[in-house]
Amino acid sequence: MSLDTLPKNLPIHPKAARYLHDVTLNDYSKYLKQCQTELNSTLNQIIDTTLFLDDDLPSALLQSLEDANNNLQDQYCQWKISQNTLQEAKNQYRNDSDKYERITELADWQNYVNPKNTLKGPKSLLDYYKETLDKNQSSTTLSTTKLDEKDKTATLLKILPQVWKDPTAVIRDDKSTNEEEDDIKIEGGSIELICPITCKPFEIPMISKKCGHTFDKQGIITYLGGPHSRASKDCPQTGCSKSVSISDFEIDEVMKLRCQIAMSLKRKQKTNSDSNSIDII
Ligand SMILES: [Zn+2]
Repeated sequence: MSLDTLPKNLPIHPKAARYLHDVTLNDYSKYLKQCQTELNSTLNQIIDTTLFLDDDLPSALLQSLEDANNNLQDQYCQWKISQNTLQEAKNQYRNDSDKYERITELADWQNYVNPKNTLKGPKSLLDYYKETLDKNQSSTTLSTTKLDEKDKTATLLKILPQVWKDPTAVIRDDKSTNEEEDDIKIEGGSIELICPITCKPFEIPMISKKCGHTFDKQGIITYLGGPHSRASKDCPQTGCSKSVSISDFEIDEVMKLRCQIAMSLKRKQKTNSDSNSIDII
């Protein structure tokens, strides 16, 4: 912030007002986003390695990832709060400035900087910032801002212990009813790890951002008319009336994880039954 270029007192001189535009925060959200991408890829590497080694989940390592992710989210919230605060403080500063009479003579200025003669007492932009910050720190809308709206890292970390035991477990994200308690509930039934279009196990599961239905990449691309097609068609999921196009789809990380774990479990079972048969011989 280049606060030095601004007058400490109101009203702002018309020539000084333009400096208000220059008072901005350094945008470090992009670095936080980079960190989160790294974190997510570390998580995927841990999962891959653990699956490859047929090992148990490294809970301490995952806990430290979760802590790091929470820390990133907190920092992002703080940055978002600071940014909003500065904007509000600037607006307030300018509005208040307009309420003061223009200073034409030095004598008036002397009166002005003497707090008892002023509207509220001269305040600097920093004073406005501090006042607004107190208010915004307690604002719930800002303190729940997420770096990545869906926070995939947190989602994966949360569901991991459940799907590790049962890759087809139905998990419902239940944020609305019980915020303090564990958000995740396990319900009856099971998730199909088979694409409804290709009727084969998912290879590259893609989820529709519009309706949350998942199809295999090859299946949905063929359905929509090829990889470069811009066509919109009804979602192929029975009963879904959303119109979707290729750009509405992204990798379904959760389904990918389920499939990876399911494959690993299958491999494990096979190895076990193989070694059992050897034992019998
Ligand atoms: Zn759908």
